[in-house]
Amino acid sequence: MKFAISSKGDNKSNMLMQRMKSYLIDFGLTLDEEKPDIVISVGGDGTLLYAFHRFKHRLDKTAFVGVHTGHLGFYADWTPDEIEKLVIAIAKTPYQVVEYPLLEIIVRYKHNGKESKYLALNESTVKGVEGTLVMDVDIKGQTFETFRGDGLCLSTPSGSTAYNKALDGAIIHPSIRAIQLTEMASINNRVFRTVGSPLILPDHHTCMLKPLNQDDFIITVDHLQLLQKDVKSIQYRVADEQIRFARFRPFPFWKRVRDSFIGE
Ligand code: NAP
Repeated sequence: MKFAISSKGDNKSNMLMQRMKSYLIDFGLTLDEEKPDIVISVGGDGTLLYAFHRFKHRLDKTAFVGVHTGHLGFYADWTPDEIEKLVIAIAKTPYQVVEYPLLEIIVRYKHNGKESKYLALNESTVKGVEGTLVMDVDIKGQTFETFRGDGLCLSTPSGSTAYNKALDGAIIHPSIRAIQLTEMASINNRVFRTVGSPLILPDHHTCMLKPLNQDDFIITVDHLQLLQKDVKSIQYRVADEQIRFARFRPFPFWKRVRDSFIGE
């Protein structure tokens, strides 16, 4: 089996990465940074986001596992003192794979007719470069509302515990193939009105954002910030691709939510 390891880059994560590398090689695995069967991320959830984007071109062939060197993460749930156990499990047991939904983003441009496609593990947000964001929000081909405010966030179920949660979105179990739309500070008065509640769309519904007052936007895709110019529309839906996590023990999602936000 071939493996790759990504580290957060701090001393603790780098040292743990080196230890895991030599253990795995001792167990007969091959280090392959190009075509790994398993990717181990050492750091936090943020580190796993980076690892996902590094290997997103081979999602059907790669499984991910995360070790945390700070606090318990949603993607990074192994502790540093468990790494021997994890290495043996990777080397010796045929692991289970759990798949989580991803968000597909298609940005279409006004004049050249071109489009760019992105995949997010957590979410994508849209904010204006200048002033209030004004956009028509279409759902499944029908105009739903005109949004005015700071921005909009579309998140995956596993990203629902990240930025989406800070926007008062619901936490969605990652076995549900859906995306969630949340508002950032919408303007609501007698003239302008939005629904105000987060919307959860199933995997056969598309959300299309169409700019009304400007053409340039900051679109985030997880940790990436992209300046997008001359935008005609931004389309969101549940992606056909999924991320695969290698599971070596049960760690129920709601237990992670409880341990992360309420306490053990
Ligand atoms: P960062 O600003 O350095 O860290 C963002 C924080 O979000 C970290 O504590 C990270 O955990 C945590 N996180 C990431 N994915 C998560 C998930 N699925 N569930 C719960 N917590 C999660 O940025 P970054 O490390 O590059 O991560 C980018 C992410 O930051 C974005 O995808 C977005 O979700 C999040 N973000 C949140 C807010 C907000 O809550 N107001 C604002 C902007 C961006 P670790 O410490 O384990 O890495």
